[in-house]
Amino acid sequence: MSLRFASLGSGSKGNGTLVASGGHCLLVDCGFTIKETERRMARLGVSPADLSAILVTHEHSDHLSGVAPLARKYKLPVYLTPGTLRARDIGVLPEVHLIEGHQPFAVADIQVTPVAVPHDAREAAQFVFRCRGSSLGLLTDLGTVTPHVESHFGACDALVLEANHDPRMLAQGPYPPSLKRRVGGAYGHLSNQQAAGFLERVGAEQLQYLVVAHISEKNNTLELAREALAEAADSVANCLFACQQRGFDWLQVEPD
Ligand SMILES: [Zn+2]
Ligand SMILES: [Zn+2]
Repeated sequence: MSLRFASLGSGSKGNGTLVASGGHCLLVDCGFTIKETERRMARLGVSPADLSAILVTHEHSDHLSGVAPLARKYKLPVYLTPGTLRARDIGVLPEVHLIEGHQPFAVADIQVTPVAVPHDAREAAQFVFRCRGSSLGLLTDLGTVTPHVESHFGACDALVLEANHDPRMLAQGPYPPSLKRRVGGAYGHLSNQQAAGFLERVGAEQLQYLVVAHISEKNNTLELAREALAEAADSVANCLFACQQRGFDWLQVEPD
């Protein structure tokens, strides 16, 4: 069984990504209420009762707010870094697995490599998933693509990649100056151009899927993201844009 993945929603109002192989399904982040999570999962033909675990990238509420309630209701193990666990009062979790920023681990037959990213969180990690010859990278919520990030995410078969903002829209947009600096800074979020630059450097030809994600509703438009990523989109087999409301439907990564 190769990897499949889908999204409950992507953006600053809530995130959740499903990664599945065979009978196992992981939820990466949960920024939705229990009810909303159940509703969005049902849309994708699954229930939280089907989950093997929840993995958390960092403590920002668009990724964390729904984790503890869901874990408690469905008695799910939660994987997160010590920094993420301690960054906030998450509340009681039924089963905690602390992960290290560089130490791969496995959940069922899915190999998970956490990758430290520069983001304004205590100990943020993004993930590369591997299963029987196919690999999937989830890469959002980072201000800079470091060589470390590039070496881990540069050769995936499928990639969910942040293109958060258009720098001009951010500069002219409604955010207060401090938030503009935060979002556009080295520990904020990737712009359309940073995402495009990363793909240009590592090459996108090997990608079966490129899913552009965490697109700001205030500081970006689909057209601007599409325009900036046009060259990369042309060279990948499939390019999609994740949506805040609907995420994206199941995609299957074939072994290479
Ligand atoms: Zn986020
Ligand atoms: Zn964040």
